[in-house]
Amino acid sequence: MNLILMGLPGAGKGTQAEKVVAKYGVPHISTGDMFRAAIKDGTELGLRAKAFMDEGNLVPDEVTVGIVEERLSKDDCQKGFLLDGFPRTVAQASALEEILKSLDRQLDHVLYIKVPEEDLFKRLTGRWICPECGATYHEIYNPPKVQGKCDKDGSDLTQRKDDKPDTVKKRIDVNMEQTQPLVDFYSEKGYLRNINGQKDIQDVFEDIDQLLKGSHQ
Ligand SMILES: [Zn+2]
Repeated sequence: MNLILMGLPGAGKGTQAEKVVAKYGVPHISTGDMFRAAIKDGTELGLRAKAFMDEGNLVPDEVTVGIVEERLSKDDCQKGFLLDGFPRTVAQASALEEILKSLDRQLDHVLYIKVPEEDLFKRLTGRWICPECGATYHEIYNPPKVQGKCDKDGSDLTQRKDDKPDTVKKRIDVNMEQTQPLVDFYSEKGYLRNINGQKDIQDVFEDIDQLLKGSHQ
Protein backbone atom coordinates (compact mmCIF):
# COMPACT_ATOMS: atom_id res chain seq x y z
CA MET A 1 0.00 0.00 0.00
CA ASN A 2 1.76 3.10 -1.27
CA LEU A 3 0.40 6.19 0.41
CA ILE A 4 0.98 9.90 0.73
CA LEU A 5 -0.56 11.78 3.64
CA MET A 6 -1.30 15.46 3.21
CA GLY A 7 -2.92 18.08 5.40
CA LEU A 8 -2.43 21.65 6.51
CA PRO A 9 -0.90 22.37 9.95
CA GLY A 10 -3.39 21.47 12.66
CA ALA A 11 -5.32 19.01 10.48
CA GLY A 12 -4.22 16.06 12.63
CA LYS A 13 -1.88 14.50 10.11
CA GLY A 14 0.61 13.21 12.69
CA THR A 15 -2.06 11.45 14.73
CA GLN A 16 -3.59 9.77 11.69
CA ALA A 17 -0.15 8.75 10.41
CA GLU A 18 0.48 6.91 13.71
CA LYS A 19 -2.83 5.09 13.42
CA VAL A 20 -2.30 4.03 9.81
CA VAL A 21 1.19 2.77 10.64
CA ALA A 22 -0.06 0.85 13.69
CA LYS A 23 -2.83 -0.86 11.75
CA TYR A 24 -1.24 -1.46 8.36
CA GLY A 25 2.40 -1.91 9.31
CA VAL A 26 3.79 0.35 6.60
CA PRO A 27 6.75 2.55 7.53
CA HIS A 28 6.01 6.20 8.23
CA ILE A 29 8.45 8.16 6.13
CA SER A 30 8.72 11.81 7.04
CA THR A 31 11.18 14.11 5.34
CA GLY A 32 12.89 15.05 8.59
CA ASP A 33 13.43 11.43 9.65
CA MET A 34 14.69 10.55 6.20
CA PHE A 35 17.29 13.32 6.24
CA ARG A 36 18.41 12.46 9.77
CA ALA A 37 18.82 8.78 8.85
CA ALA A 38 20.77 9.53 5.65
CA ILE A 39 23.08 11.87 7.55
CA LYS A 40 23.56 9.40 10.39
CA ASP A 41 24.34 6.59 7.92
CA GLY A 42 26.79 8.90 6.20
CA THR A 43 25.45 8.17 2.70
CA GLU A 44 26.81 10.36 -0.08
CA LEU A 45 23.45 12.09 -0.45
CA GLY A 46 23.13 12.46 3.30
CA LEU A 47 26.46 14.24 3.44
CA ARG A 48 25.49 16.52 0.56
CA ALA A 49 22.21 17.36 2.30
CA LYS A 50 24.09 18.08 5.54
CA ALA A 51 26.46 20.48 3.76
CA PHE A 52 23.50 22.53 2.52
CA MET A 53 21.76 22.49 5.90
CA ASP A 54 24.92 23.43 7.80
CA GLU A 55 25.13 26.58 5.72
CA GLY A 56 21.50 27.33 6.35
CA ASN A 57 20.49 26.63 2.76
CA LEU A 58 17.55 24.67 1.44
CA VAL A 59 18.44 21.19 0.26
CA PRO A 60 18.02 21.15 -3.53
CA ASP A 61 15.41 18.86 -5.08
CA GLU A 62 17.91 16.52 -6.73
CA VAL A 63 19.41 15.65 -3.33
CA THR A 64 16.04 15.34 -1.60
CA VAL A 65 14.66 13.19 -4.39
CA GLY A 66 17.76 10.98 -4.27
CA ILE A 67 17.30 10.46 -0.54
CA VAL A 68 13.65 9.56 -1.06
CA GLU A 69 14.65 7.07 -3.75
CA GLU A 70 17.19 5.41 -1.44
CA ARG A 71 14.63 5.23 1.35
CA LEU A 72 11.84 3.76 -0.78
CA SER A 73 14.23 1.11 -2.11
CA LYS A 74 14.82 -0.32 1.38
CA ASP A 75 13.38 -3.68 2.40
CA ASP A 76 10.88 -2.32 4.90
CA CYS A 77 9.07 -0.50 2.06
CA GLN A 78 8.37 -3.75 0.19
CA LYS A 79 4.77 -3.86 1.35
CA GLY A 80 4.27 -0.14 1.14
CA PHE A 81 4.96 3.19 2.75
CA LEU A 82 3.31 6.27 4.13
CA LEU A 83 5.02 9.42 2.90
CA ASP A 84 4.54 12.50 5.04
CA GLY A 85 5.97 15.92 4.16
CA PHE A 86 7.12 14.80 0.73
CA PRO A 87 6.44 15.78 -2.00
CA ARG A 88 6.14 19.50 -1.28
CA THR A 89 6.13 20.73 -4.85
CA VAL A 90 4.78 19.54 -8.18
CA ALA A 91 8.37 19.10 -9.38
CA GLN A 92 9.00 16.73 -6.47
CA ALA A 93 5.71 14.95 -7.15
CA SER A 94 6.75 14.37 -10.76
CA ALA A 95 10.13 13.09 -9.59
CA LEU A 96 8.34 10.70 -7.23
CA GLU A 97 6.32 9.32 -10.15
CA GLU A 98 9.61 8.53 -11.89
CA ILE A 99 11.08 6.90 -8.79
CA LEU A 100 8.04 4.69 -8.37
CA LYS A 101 8.06 3.77 -12.04
CA SER A 102 11.70 2.71 -11.76
CA LEU A 103 10.77 0.56 -8.76
CA ASP A 104 7.85 -0.86 -10.75
CA ARG A 105 5.29 0.52 -8.34
CA GLN A 106 2.65 3.17 -8.20
CA LEU A 107 0.74 5.21 -5.66
CA ASP A 108 -2.50 3.84 -4.27
CA HIS A 109 -3.88 6.87 -2.49
CA VAL A 110 -3.03 10.42 -1.63
CA LEU A 111 -4.95 11.03 1.60
CA TYR A 112 -5.74 14.69 2.05
CA ILE A 113 -7.12 15.52 5.47
CA LYS A 114 -9.28 18.56 4.92
CA VAL A 115 -10.18 21.03 7.64
CA PRO A 116 -11.53 24.52 6.88
CA GLU A 117 -9.05 27.32 7.45
CA GLU A 118 -11.11 28.92 10.28
CA ASP A 119 -11.05 25.64 12.20
CA LEU A 120 -7.32 25.19 11.77
CA PHE A 121 -6.90 28.73 13.03
CA LYS A 122 -8.96 27.97 16.15
CA ARG A 123 -7.08 24.74 16.80
CA LEU A 124 -3.65 26.32 16.43
CA THR A 125 -4.19 29.59 18.25
CA GLY A 126 -5.86 28.00 21.27
CA ARG A 127 -2.68 26.67 22.86
CA TRP A 128 -1.42 28.26 26.08
CA ILE A 129 1.43 27.20 28.32
CA CYS A 130 2.46 27.81 31.90
CA PRO A 131 5.89 29.48 32.05
CA GLU A 132 6.42 28.07 35.56
CA CYS A 133 5.66 24.36 35.22
CA GLY A 134 5.31 23.85 31.47
CA ALA A 135 1.71 22.59 31.66
CA THR A 136 -0.14 23.08 28.35
CA TYR A 137 -3.76 24.01 27.83
CA HIS A 138 -6.09 24.56 24.92
CA GLU A 139 -8.95 27.06 24.97
CA ILE A 140 -11.32 24.56 23.37
CA TYR A 141 -9.98 21.06 24.03
CA ASN A 142 -8.32 21.40 27.43
CA PRO A 143 -9.16 24.74 29.06
CA PRO A 144 -7.73 25.71 32.46
CA LYS A 145 -10.26 25.92 35.33
CA VAL A 146 -9.71 29.67 35.60
CA GLN A 147 -9.20 31.46 32.32
CA GLY A 148 -5.59 32.47 31.75
CA LYS A 149 -4.30 30.79 34.94
CA CYS A 150 -2.41 27.53 35.45
CA ASP A 151 -4.45 24.87 37.32
CA LYS A 152 -1.37 23.69 39.23
CA ASP A 153 0.31 26.88 40.38
CA GLY A 154 -1.97 29.78 39.37
CA SER A 155 0.68 31.39 37.12
CA ASP A 156 -0.42 33.56 34.20
CA LEU A 157 -0.46 31.45 31.05
CA THR A 158 1.46 32.62 28.00
CA GLN A 159 1.39 31.84 24.30
CA ARG A 160 4.34 30.72 22.23
CA LYS A 161 5.17 32.94 19.28
CA ASP A 162 4.29 30.04 16.96
CA ASP A 163 0.78 29.91 18.42
CA LYS A 164 -0.01 33.62 18.15
CA PRO A 165 -2.73 34.61 15.67
CA ASP A 166 -0.55 36.50 13.17
CA THR A 167 2.05 33.73 13.01
CA VAL A 168 -0.59 31.02 12.72
CA LYS A 169 -2.47 32.87 9.97
CA LYS A 170 0.73 33.25 7.99
CA ARG A 171 1.72 29.61 8.46
CA ILE A 172 -1.69 28.40 7.26
CA ASP A 173 -1.64 30.73 4.24
CA VAL A 174 1.87 29.73 3.17
CA ASN A 175 0.96 26.06 3.50
CA MET A 176 -2.27 26.48 1.56
CA GLU A 177 -0.38 28.11 -1.28
CA GLN A 178 2.11 25.26 -1.33
CA THR A 179 -0.48 22.54 -1.01
CA GLN A 180 -3.02 23.57 -3.64
CA PRO A 181 -0.86 22.80 -6.71
CA LEU A 182 -0.17 19.33 -5.29
CA VAL A 183 -3.84 18.75 -4.59
CA ASP A 184 -4.58 19.68 -8.22
CA PHE A 185 -1.76 17.47 -9.49
CA TYR A 186 -2.95 14.38 -7.61
CA SER A 187 -6.57 15.10 -8.35
CA GLU A 188 -5.81 15.06 -12.08
CA LYS A 189 -3.89 11.81 -11.69
CA GLY A 190 -6.85 10.27 -9.87
CA TYR A 191 -5.01 9.55 -6.61
CA LEU A 192 -6.52 12.23 -4.41
CA ARG A 193 -8.86 11.12 -1.60
CA ASN A 194 -10.43 13.90 0.41
CA ILE A 195 -10.81 12.98 4.07
CA ASN A 196 -13.09 15.07 6.26
CA GLY A 197 -10.81 16.14 9.11
CA GLN A 198 -13.53 17.94 11.06
CA LYS A 199 -14.69 14.76 12.76
CA ASP A 200 -13.30 13.20 15.94
CA ILE A 201 -9.84 11.67 15.64
CA GLN A 202 -11.28 8.16 15.78
CA ASP A 203 -13.96 8.88 13.16
CA VAL A 204 -11.41 10.40 10.82
CA PHE A 205 -9.35 7.25 11.15
CA GLU A 206 -12.38 5.05 10.48
CA ASP A 207 -12.95 6.89 7.20
CA ILE A 208 -9.32 6.33 6.23
CA ASP A 209 -9.51 2.73 7.34
CA GLN A 210 -12.62 2.06 5.22
CA LEU A 211 -10.89 3.52 2.21
CA LEU A 212 -7.73 1.48 2.69
CA LYS A 213 -9.64 -1.74 3.39
CA GLY A 214 -11.80 -1.19 0.33
CA SER A 215 -8.79 -0.83 -1.89
CA HIS A 216 -7.49 -4.25 -0.90
CA GLN A 217 -10.59 -6.34 -1.45
ZN1 LIG B 1 1.90 25.93 35.99
